[in-house]
Amino acid sequence: MPIYFDNAATTMVCREAADAAYNIMTENYGNPSSTHTMGRNARKALESAREQLARALGAEPAEVFFTSCGTESDNWAILSGAELMKRRGNHVISSTVEHSAVLKALDALEAQGWEVTRLSPEKDGSISAQSVLDALRPDTVLISLMMVNNETGGITDISAISKAVRRAGSGALIHCDAVQGFMKLPFKASTLGADMISVSGHKIHAPKGIGALYIKGGEKAIKLKPLIVGGSQESARRAGTEALPQIAAFGAAAELAKAKLDESQEHMKMLKARAIERLCSENEGLLVLSGDAPHILSISLPGYKSEVLMNFLEKRDIFVSKSSACRKGKRSYVLEALGLSPDVIDGALRIGFSRYNTLEELDALCNGISDAKASLKTVLGHK
Ligand code: PLP
Repeated sequence: MPIYFDNAATTMVCREAADAAYNIMTENYGNPSSTHTMGRNARKALESAREQLARALGAEPAEVFFTSCGTESDNWAILSGAELMKRRGNHVISSTVEHSAVLKALDALEAQGWEVTRLSPEKDGSISAQSVLDALRPDTVLISLMMVNNETGGITDISAISKAVRRAGSGALIHCDAVQGFMKLPFKASTLGADMISVSGHKIHAPKGIGALYIKGGEKAIKLKPLIVGGSQESARRAGTEALPQIAAFGAAAELAKAKLDESQEHMKMLKARAIERLCSENEGLLVLSGDAPHILSISLPGYKSEVLMNFLEKRDIFVSKSSACRKGKRSYVLEALGLSPDVIDGALRIGFSRYNTLEELDALCNGISDAKASLKTVLGHK
């Protein structure tokens, strides 16, 4: 059995989600748009998954739109959100430490003539409300910030930012990439203050290839233009035959995650605290780079190479990640934005916890890291 500690990259599909997908693929496999009984049954499954997701998000079902992934949700919110607001202004606020699904969408806006302010993070990768307020202008029409940074676990207080932005009299659309926050931190879409919230299935034990965008007030409120055009699925907001196996699995995974949220949070916090305690006491010079999210622990062994440490652990069937799983071969721009030195960045490891990780697995990981440090040479050749 692999010892999997890369849960910020993706998670194992839980039994409940796999069963829900299997049922749709083998029994309830009609097209939700078909008018016969099988179509109607499939539609029922679709709407019931939407209700499950809405309950987990603290939203109304009409506010939940299924997409293919977190990336699509981010792209849709940013590109169509800006388009919707373009008559009111030309300025967007985001940060330098967003996921590339957001950064590349911002690049696309800039290429169209938009002005984008990318805020610098605090030490843990979070964004302060004050820095948003300082950047706010009368022509700011869109703000896009992540809830939890995928590399550091730094938590941005979206609720405080939304309140501050509204108090300052701004009507800018607020988008939150909550791909790493959903079902890891408790929040309710109805009180968060964001107009749009992106979430993704594969980070919460559903399969890959399913995401959702929460749009406040549903189709009647924010008239977000579809990014994908064609049929009239998802209230004519997102075309394409619904990926019902993934959608049903996402609903089941969200329901279970919601029911277990407190327990999972406590469990992951306990694992993270124990990891910090053991790793710091057993490895001189080891740095903890992490923010407060319960499921992400970022550490560094300056002078060692992340890849070499990863390979050492992999020989024991233990899986962690360098920084973000999407940044193959490049130095992390997130850790660079924190002002960390190259030797700290090059020795960084991201440990991602899930509710399924055990203490025995954690001990195996800590033993592995200590053994790696004791037996591997640093890049300078010292032990
Ligand atoms: N946003 C954040 C913060 C993420 O961590 C990720 C995935 O790693 C995404 C967006 C993209 O989500 P998906 O993999 O579902 O496209």
